[in-house]
Amino acid sequence: MMEFLMPLLDAPPGIVLAAVGWAVLGLIVGSFLNVVIVRMPVMLQRETDNFIALERDEAPPHSERYNLIMPRSACPSCGHQLTVMENIPVISYLWLHGRCRHCRAPISLRYPMVEILSAALPGWVIWVLGSGFTGIAALVMVWMLLAMTFIDMDIQMLPDDLTLPLMWLGLLVNLVGGFVPLDEAVIGAAAGYLMLWLVYWAFKLITGKDGIGYGDFKLLAALGAWLGWMMLPLIVLFSSATGAVVGLFLMLVRGHERDKPIPFGPFLAVAGLLALLYGQTVMDLWLRRGF
Ligand SMILES: [Zn+2]
Repeated sequence: MMEFLMPLLDAPPGIVLAAVGWAVLGLIVGSFLNVVIVRMPVMLQRETDNFIALERDEAPPHSERYNLIMPRSACPSCGHQLTVMENIPVISYLWLHGRCRHCRAPISLRYPMVEILSAALPGWVIWVLGSGFTGIAALVMVWMLLAMTFIDMDIQMLPDDLTLPLMWLGLLVNLVGGFVPLDEAVIGAAAGYLMLWLVYWAFKLITGKDGIGYGDFKLLAALGAWLGWMMLPLIVLFSSATGAVVGLFLMLVRGHERDKPIPFGPFLAVAGLLALLYGQTVMDLWLRRGF
């Protein structure tokens, strides 16, 4: 452990300070991502319920304010509103021994996990891409992917409210000289959507089942918008291969119900992250070897 930390201890104080700063920012963002992960599915469900009621000329069932800010965070078991001290990323979880201070109900390990991931990712992204414009932009993309990963695992759906802004953001970042020329980004967005759309229909025609969802098309479109069309084959290959392996594993080990879909979004998100950080290196190797 100490050996692992030695480079950090030997590093100039400026770098250590920057690393700590990024980690703290990551923790704060992670705390907000937890809110997004928990509330966005509820917000979507409420919107749908209200829409259906409206269509039937009934009173909307959800009229109280519920968004990413209101109401304040509370314990899901007893409704106890969290104080500032109970809401500090990771630290509060450790301080409270993972339980609500009021009713002692266990707090999901998911919260500190998301916060730790969110704090660790800036170090990785900025290590590889630097702290310039592309590095910071990439960080925003990675944080959004993190939120989508957990939402897709929870409800097997990728909200348009996340996939579409991610796509627009990718196009805008490349408009001002981000990762790839703008034409490659635009083609990437269109081709990303079309690729999975074709796979979806081929799969549906052959098996009569929905293999992947429309949210997945939009997420691949977003990744194409950020990284350009040339990264798409790499992303699709990697995500399908890992998805197939994990899917088989789940079916064998846990007897995962065959009809319960395994979300594809998390695999796309991880493939997108790796393509963002190492895609160019892989492509260079590929081209140099000429196969
Ligand atoms: Zn409680």
